Amino acid sequence: RDAGVTPRADRLIEYLHRLQDAHGALFADHLAALAEALKLARAEVFEVATFYHHFDFVPSGAEAPPALTVRVCDSLGCAMAGGAELAASLATRLGADVRVQRVPCVGRCDSAPVAVVGQKPVLNADADKVAAVVASGERDESLPEAIRFDAYRAAGGYALWEAVRSGERATDSIIQALDHAGLRGLGGAGFPAARKWRTVAAQPAPRNMAVNIDEGEPGTFKDRHYLATDPHRFIEGMLIAARAVGIAGIWIYIRDEYPALRRLLAEELERVRAAWPDLPPIELRRGAGAYVCGEESAMIESIEGKRGMPRLRPPYVAEVGLFGRPTLEHNLETLWWVRDIVEKGGDWFASFGRNGRKGLRSFSVSGRVAKPGVVVTDAGITLRELIDEHCGGMLPGHALYGYFPGGASGGILPASLADVPLDFDTLAPHGCFIGSAAIVVFSQHDQARLLAENAMEFFAHESCGQCTPCRVGTAKAAALMKAPQWDAGLLKELGRTMMDASICGLGQAAPNPMQSVLRFFPQEVGAVKGEGA
Ligand code: SF4
Repeated sequence: RDAGVTPRADRLIEYLHRLQDAHGALFADHLAALAEALKLARAEVFEVATFYHHFDFVPSGAEAPPALTVRVCDSLGCAMAGGAELAASLATRLGADVRVQRVPCVGRCDSAPVAVVGQKPVLNADADKVAAVVASGERDESLPEAIRFDAYRAAGGYALWEAVRSGERATDSIIQALDHAGLRGLGGAGFPAARKWRTVAAQPAPRNMAVNIDEGEPGTFKDRHYLATDPHRFIEGMLIAARAVGIAGIWIYIRDEYPALRRLLAEELERVRAAWPDLPPIELRRGAGAYVCGEESAMIESIEGKRGMPRLRPPYVAEVGLFGRPTLEHNLETLWWVRDIVEKGGDWFASFGRNGRKGLRSFSVSGRVAKPGVVVTDAGITLRELIDEHCGGMLPGHALYGYFPGGASGGILPASLADVPLDFDTLAPHGCFIGSAAIVVFSQHDQARLLAENAMEFFAHESCGQCTPCRVGTAKAAALMKAPQWDAGLLKELGRTMMDASICGLGQAAPNPMQSVLRFFPQEVGAVKGEGA
């Protein structure tokens, strides 16, 4: 307990982290004491502690896990790069004193395969590298070489914020610039940013803001890139948005897999607070390993200290969001673009683009390309152009066979559709979507069916369990997809049910890769039974 600070139930997840950090796991008697301190029912604390994958709850009388955990990513990019084999060899090599877990995407797909020793990521990992880090005692990642507050300010940063703050720059003109630019939400949903600002600003005060840095979509790592290099460009955009919309309090939710970035952000927010002490309160919240918390209403539940279960809509979070208040919810990257768009003009942003599309996009490219990484380029670029112009071509010995255009949930396209413009709305005729622009490229050495199975297992693992079509559907589909010959009729019916009847985007999008395989890669799933592929 911090001296003089009254414990708050909405900070439950923060307290659970502190307990686990201090004791190595969550023990039943600690949770009971926490429930009492927060004046919550024990069941409420236990259900939160057992919901999030990063919490290790130890029931009374059970054995605590080993002191060290090595997490090995087994999502798309890492699976292609041998993640499962790495996990298996580490389990043998590291022995019983180290727990080796296969985990979903850790947001470093450009350096696959990745293992995380404690909180220290090992990039392009092999068993020797991981064993060396285990032996070294290194458990934390060092801070990235980001542009810090003083350097950012010296280069003209926060001048726009100062102008907005002093009233010299009207917030209406800021929103107009975003409108001209055509800036859309870059977390995946693509909702026009200016319209969102106007909608929330029209709601009664007090209004809150929630910033989503929970990028957990397998294949996505752009927010990590922006935060690790130029965090103040995002913070300045956030402050301008808060001022334009009349925000009373800001909550920033960052995934637990980015501990160094969380420390960096905490340090830099302190500098910002020191420069402008009259800012609205800004709270930094730490996720706990639940992909579903990237869904805006689930994130809000999590910030409120609950299980990350998406809410039914309406009401929308713009009307009734965080702590029951109208809430402006944005992904980090959307806010990152605000300063450039306002300074250079909406027309500047809209002047980029090709193949009939407008604007810039940040593509997280991984898989079988020579140079994976974040590529900032024209909206509407095609995969072929992206690989040839920005990724150094395919890896030697690999020919393009297919790609995920929007992470695990955006479906799969074959090489024959490598000339489709990549942007919001352009992929719908092919049953796909771009989402957060996570491009995972695969080759003739991979099988689309195995990658689709990997994606479905991920969704089954991450389903919050609230609704039956998703909870049961993802698990059932994952099991059916293991059959050498797929039952197309049954899988299609199951997919339709999940899409039509799931509460949130997780269950609605989970069937996409499976349906893409039936549509574009039927040769991989045998002589398909049922109503035909
Ligand atoms: Fe939860 Fe899945 Fe239903 Fe979304 S679709 S609310 S993740 S069970």
